[in-house]
Amino acid sequence: MRIRKVSHRKLPLTTRGQLRILFLGTGSAFTKKNYQNNILIVKGEDHVMIDCGTRAPEALSRLGRSVGDVRNYYITHSHADHVGGLEEVMLVNRYVTRTRPHIYIPEEYQTILWERSLRGGSEENERHEGEGLGFEDFWVVHRPTERPDLPRRGTEVQIGGINLKTFRTRHFPEQARSWDDAFYSVGLVIDDRVMFTGDTQYDEELITTMEELFSPEVIFHDVQFFTGGIHASLKEINGLPRHIRDHIYLMHYPDSWRDHADEAKRHGMQFVKQWVFYDFA
Ligand SMILES: [Zn+2]
Ligand SMILES: [Zn+2]
Repeated sequence: MRIRKVSHRKLPLTTRGQLRILFLGTGSAFTKKNYQNNILIVKGEDHVMIDCGTRAPEALSRLGRSVGDVRNYYITHSHADHVGGLEEVMLVNRYVTRTRPHIYIPEEYQTILWERSLRGGSEENERHEGEGLGFEDFWVVHRPTERPDLPRRGTEVQIGGINLKTFRTRHFPEQARSWDDAFYSVGLVIDDRVMFTGDTQYDEELITTMEELFSPEVIFHDVQFFTGGIHASLKEINGLPRHIRDHIYLMHYPDSWRDHADEAKRHGMQFVKQWVFYDFA
């Protein structure tokens, strides 16, 4: 993996062919110093944005882009730091850009996302023959392929040259005992070489299973600084074997992350930086 600073006034949405990951933000749900943990994956002519939190449109704007420029979306779960910017995506596309962006979403999660989050601010903006708008008036919908051979109800999508495989995570509620007991939330394997945990409680079995299956070059792992609640703590992650920690980059961190940089380093890990190109040749 090569790390380079973003040097463009307008964030490029293409590469020379290499896989590129850019964190539009690296912060936790309540961050005030970073943006939220949403990423843009770019490869050749293709791109997809993973999650679009409340502050993602602002982060894109600071990088010279509008949500109207992003054509493909994949959403991991319904917390506002992951979906809070979607209403802006929908309204800008419908009324300014006048196109529909593409969303890759299982049917099960489309119902959750529409009924419980997006419908309130979008359905009644128009009325045609007595009916308001629906999800598919805003989005071109693509269904991931079920991959029952992968662990945890895996799915797969191909977005141009970008391959995403998903796995369910044990994120919330705090009381969930396993991933299939938890509410809908997924993490990703990108091009069979990068693991992005999404939001999850500490889940050693998930990490070791994915290590065995994909031997990822890098694992982007969410972190918090106390044990309990709905994210993995630094203390818990410190307990993973050294050969796994060696390629863990910590993301989704609270504003106090600098106080923990030495501890992470001692354990062979570092914190992800926002607005940096992570390039995979
Ligand atoms: Zn989150
Ligand atoms: Zn979350």
